[in-house]
Amino acid sequence: MIEAANLTKRYGDKTAVDDLSFTVVPGRVTGFLGPNGAGKSTTMRLLLGLDRPDRGDARIHGRHYRDLNAPLRVVGALLEARAVHTGRSAYNHLLCLAQTQGIGKRRVDEVIDLVGLTGPARKRAGGFSLGMGQRLGIAAALLGDPSVLILDEPVNGLDPEGIVWIRTLMQRLAAEGRTVFVSSHLMNEMAVTAEHLIVIGRGRLIADCSTEEFIERSTEKMVTVRSPDAERLSGVVAAEGGKVAPGGDGLLTVTHMEAPRVGELAAAEGIVLHELTPSRGSLESAFMELTRDSVEYGTAAGSAAGSVPEAVPGAVPGAVPGPEGEPR
Ligand code: ADP
Repeated sequence: MIEAANLTKRYGDKTAVDDLSFTVVPGRVTGFLGPNGAGKSTTMRLLLGLDRPDRGDARIHGRHYRDLNAPLRVVGALLEARAVHTGRSAYNHLLCLAQTQGIGKRRVDEVIDLVGLTGPARKRAGGFSLGMGQRLGIAAALLGDPSVLILDEPVNGLDPEGIVWIRTLMQRLAAEGRTVFVSSHLMNEMAVTAEHLIVIGRGRLIADCSTEEFIERSTEKMVTVRSPDAERLSGVVAAEGGKVAPGGDGLLTVTHMEAPRVGELAAAEGIVLHELTPSRGSLESAFMELTRDSVEYGTAAGSAAGSVPEAVPGAVPGAVPGPEGEPR
């Protein structure tokens, strides 16, 4: 169990984490979602005692990280897998870590197997690909067989196979009853990985709900209609409050009205329909739209922005460099 209570962290006049409170419970993957610069890494550093909050409190199983006796046995963390720039082999890297916590050699072999690094384990870890580095980072996090896992953007830069592997592993670890807290700026990735989401923007809480509820709230229902009499149908639907976007060739996309109502209106007016399909808008684009204002720096076309939307879920993928200076 992870608990953040009114966590606040400022860097100069910049508030990276702003009065953030949430609880992460065991048994399910909880996604920590937000645009780049939203404060996810800072929050994770506060949870792990790597940074001190200006205000508020972060506890793991009811205790501050610094008060845990053998922290690796309680919490496994992956903050920056690329931090392994070592001339050591993966095996020796893990063995050194294990020895600091009284963890035996057998567990080192176990985690190497678990993350699929058995082949390259004796090779120099500094020469590892990003994907192998992530696997090594996860192996290190799992060394102490911890009941809590805190993983910062573990899928970053991975190939599709690596992404599926990490996703499956996180879900398995959660199913074993562990607390799995994983950050990402990718909505679609979290939608298929996490059961629960904590969404932040500009350091503030935007949503804390099930992924299902988040998707339900964030994506607009759309109806695709095709009719040889699209123009008349358009008028009828609009008159009843639907929003219609014509797509040409008899195609209409209707929002603000459910499919059955569109069908009823068409029937009442004797308008022939060739298609009537309810669907949802793109999750990622809805997410971007909702959190446009909470993005610190946009991608090439984006810009710095205003306030965090009140009580609406969301965040956006962007290309923001991480914080400079302080090691993560
Ligand atoms: P995220 O992980 O969501 O991308 P971060 O926690 O890395 O967000 O950053 C949140 C904000 O705090 C950003 O504006 C970032 O530039 C700033 N920040 C983070 N760490 C530092 C630091 N050590 N010094 C100054 N600013 C920082």
